[in-house]
Amino acid sequence: MDETSTILATDPSTVHSHAKAFWESGRAGSLDERLAALTRLETALSSETDAILAALAADLGKPGLEAWLSEIHFVLTEIRFFRKKLRQWSRPLRVGNPFFIFPARSEIRREAHGVVLIAAPWNYPLQLSLSPLIAAVAGGNTVVLKPSELAPATAAILAKILSDVFEPGHVTVVCGGPDAGSALLEQPFDLFFYTGGERVGRLYAEAAARHFVPVILELGGKCPCLLTDDVDLDLAVPRIVSAKWFNAGQTCVAPDFVLVPESKREAFVAKTRSLLEQVYGTGTPRDLAAIVNESHYERILSVCQGDVVTVGEDDASSRIIAPRILPNAGWDDPSMREEIFGPVLPVVGYTDLDEALARLAAQPAPLALYAFSRDSATLEHIAGAVRSGSVCFNDAVKQAMNLALPFGGVGASGMGRYRGRAGFESFTWTRAVTRRYWVKDFFLTLPPYGQTLARMRRWMK
Ligand code: NAD
Repeated sequence: MDETSTILATDPSTVHSHAKAFWESGRAGSLDERLAALTRLETALSSETDAILAALAADLGKPGLEAWLSEIHFVLTEIRFFRKKLRQWSRPLRVGNPFFIFPARSEIRREAHGVVLIAAPWNYPLQLSLSPLIAAVAGGNTVVLKPSELAPATAAILAKILSDVFEPGHVTVVCGGPDAGSALLEQPFDLFFYTGGERVGRLYAEAAARHFVPVILELGGKCPCLLTDDVDLDLAVPRIVSAKWFNAGQTCVAPDFVLVPESKREAFVAKTRSLLEQVYGTGTPRDLAAIVNESHYERILSVCQGDVVTVGEDDASSRIIAPRILPNAGWDDPSMREEIFGPVLPVVGYTDLDEALARLAAQPAPLALYAFSRDSATLEHIAGAVRSGSVCFNDAVKQAMNLALPFGGVGASGMGRYRGRAGFESFTWTRAVTRRYWVKDFFLTLPPYGQTLARMRRWMK
């Protein structure tokens, strides 16, 4: 298909009008075309797997297994899920009618928003571009996708694949940085979907308010991981290490810090250190992703203050930060003031669970909360005390791998949901439709009312 569906240099109003014209043609809304486009996307991703892996390695030094699992396989699974369910989800939902409009037929229809803007971040540059895009296309929208400029190789391959798969105007990729992004915010999109940090998220929320359209914000925050007295560290530590150091901690739902009972702190640190040595080695870490750029590299190292356990050696030339544990972190430390988004794990001790929960509850609501305990009542108590977009008991990040669960934040970690059916629902809106028939009306409210009110009050209560 034509190269013009990918516009690399931005003329935002042309991009928008192009997408709008395609939307107005009605072709994006056809169920058969939506399914066919998803199939074409699936085929293209499968055949470009090696090129995508190379792009992810160039942008983020992602180990092949991590890149394949979390980006390519994840997205292919979501496409297959949508292909299987889309007809069913698209069907109007027949509902009942109040007796006084009898006879009638009512249903809820799912309608596309129109032209939607999707802005994606760099940490899972393929997954976080395509997962909302799949939902948007499945919903019948046309899409303008703005990948992150911080993952340029992935942005380029996305642009190529999407221009091959979609007709011009159906999906348009706009590459570029903040200038390209902020120019797009001036266009009258019908929905804004943003994944990234809070500061820029606010710009998307403001744009949506200006255009008077919905916005979905997938933001970040510090996801706490709380262990109680009765946990089995031999099981908990590998789960936490896997969730934290995957993609070098640059995962929005990774455990940001760990809260452990004081009595378990030393044992937790010792086991974590020993496992890190075993899996990443004691030299330059093997199979650990790079930090995205120099400024994030410096930022992450700058929060490593006080006691620091470093496993292995950094490699500044390829921006690899060796895993670090901050074994005696305190609530006011630099590492606890902002989201770490890197391979550094502060460990904060506590003596009273309810005091720890009160501290957590006072922080901005995170995207995810992780609680480890053998006692169900304790787990529910923790979930009840701290608000978060999602919760995973006795593990971390697994809730975000399940396409049957909605994904998103609450409060400072964002608003709106996607993934699987939740994505389809977010990228469509519900239209209430009632049809009446050409028969005599039994109930019509027409003056003069006379005794009608008294009768109505008796019958209708
Ligand atoms: P980023 O810098 O890649 O920005 C995200 C997008 O916004 C990019 O496409 C970028 O070009 C665009 N952008 C930047 N400035 C803009 C402007 N002035 N106007 C319009 N668009 C602009 O991403 P980031 O903020 O570094 O991402 C990291 C943050 O994202 C972390 O806080 C992380 O927790 C969060 N995150 C959240 C999720 C989630 O699903 N909730 C997923 C990944 C990352």
